[in-house]
Amino acid sequence: MAGRPDYYKILGVGKNASDAEIKKAYRKLARKYHPDQNGGDKKAEERFKEISQAHDVLSDPEKRKAYDRGTGPFGGFGTPGGFDPGSFTGNFGDILSNLFGGGGGTGGRGGVRGGRPQQRGRDLETEVSLSFDQAVGGAKVSLAVPTSQACPTCNGTGAKPGTTPKICPVCEGRGVEAQSQGIFSISQPCSNCHGSGTIIEDPCPTCGGTGAQRTVKRLRVNIPAGVREGSRIRLPGKGESGLHGAEPGDLYVITRVSDSPVFKRVGDNLEVEVPLTIPEAVQGAVVEVPTLNGSKRLRVAPGTKHGTIQRLRGEGPPRLGDKGRGDIRYRFVIDVPDTLSPEQSDAIEQLSRVINGNPRSELFARAQAGGGGRS
Ligand SMILES: [Zn+2]
Ligand SMILES: [Zn+2]
Repeated sequence: MAGRPDYYKILGVGKNASDAEIKKAYRKLARKYHPDQNGGDKKAEERFKEISQAHDVLSDPEKRKAYDRGTGPFGGFGTPGGFDPGSFTGNFGDILSNLFGGGGGTGGRGGVRGGRPQQRGRDLETEVSLSFDQAVGGAKVSLAVPTSQACPTCNGTGAKPGTTPKICPVCEGRGVEAQSQGIFSISQPCSNCHGSGTIIEDPCPTCGGTGAQRTVKRLRVNIPAGVREGSRIRLPGKGESGLHGAEPGDLYVITRVSDSPVFKRVGDNLEVEVPLTIPEAVQGAVVEVPTLNGSKRLRVAPGTKHGTIQRLRGEGPPRLGDKGRGDIRYRFVIDVPDTLSPEQSDAIEQLSRVINGNPRSELFARAQAGGGGRS
């Protein structure tokens, strides 16, 4: 079949490659050629589209079967004409199969002219990597989202330009086969054309008969301040375009946030470990601590215990949805030196002579009172 892309070659796998091998090859290549990785390089983008297209076909057992048979078309872009999707749920309820069709069978199917119902575009999902500061402060980011559109060569019919999909001889273009069983008449999608009502004999060389073309949608997106790792932002209408004037789908952006070297995010708040020297903990001190936009001074009370938490209210990250800001929680940890200078050693020696009680005696007294049990 002239002009038909070699999907196996594109993914660099053998004709007998398993699903897992295909998936693996696709992931590897998709990562390498993803537009986000290549700074808008056109060649990489073309490669990326090819890879996505090859994966679309080879990862679907039915489409792959049809492709291997060399029967060409693997489905059409659009909902089959003459077939009411409302009367059949299953394959056609699935958005993907609406886009790429069930395919396979004896000749596959293509899009159909006339009477095409409107069809909302697919929802898309993409990830965006943010620094900790971007997540807390908000950011404007560029996204490149892989999507599909009707193939411009064949306008989504899947048929080679100058040819038209042939009316399916089995269902005569209706896309359904009716069977009478007693008083009932049962309709099901035509087994010959898989409900499209047509057969493509000469597939479009651009899309290989799928009727769909991979493309990359570029957009600038405002990430609201206060997102965190795994936040899911919905952008209505920014998904795949709808068919035949229908409304587009939505785009979901999942945020991946790098860790901060200082702050740890815990729910709505941030947590920071603040080391204190032994004298600071014992005598109290005023210490400087980091905040999101600089630093503040905190008063440490004399006799501060290891693990004591002090918070600065409202200094944390913004809560999504205009609900104010979280807190920063400062957790004091007593910095115990690993090694001592001779001078420090002397001082500790002296200290041990004056602070010489046994703080654990209380433990045993309590154990006695409680009948020796552990409570
Ligand atoms: Zn085409
Ligand atoms: Zn048919």
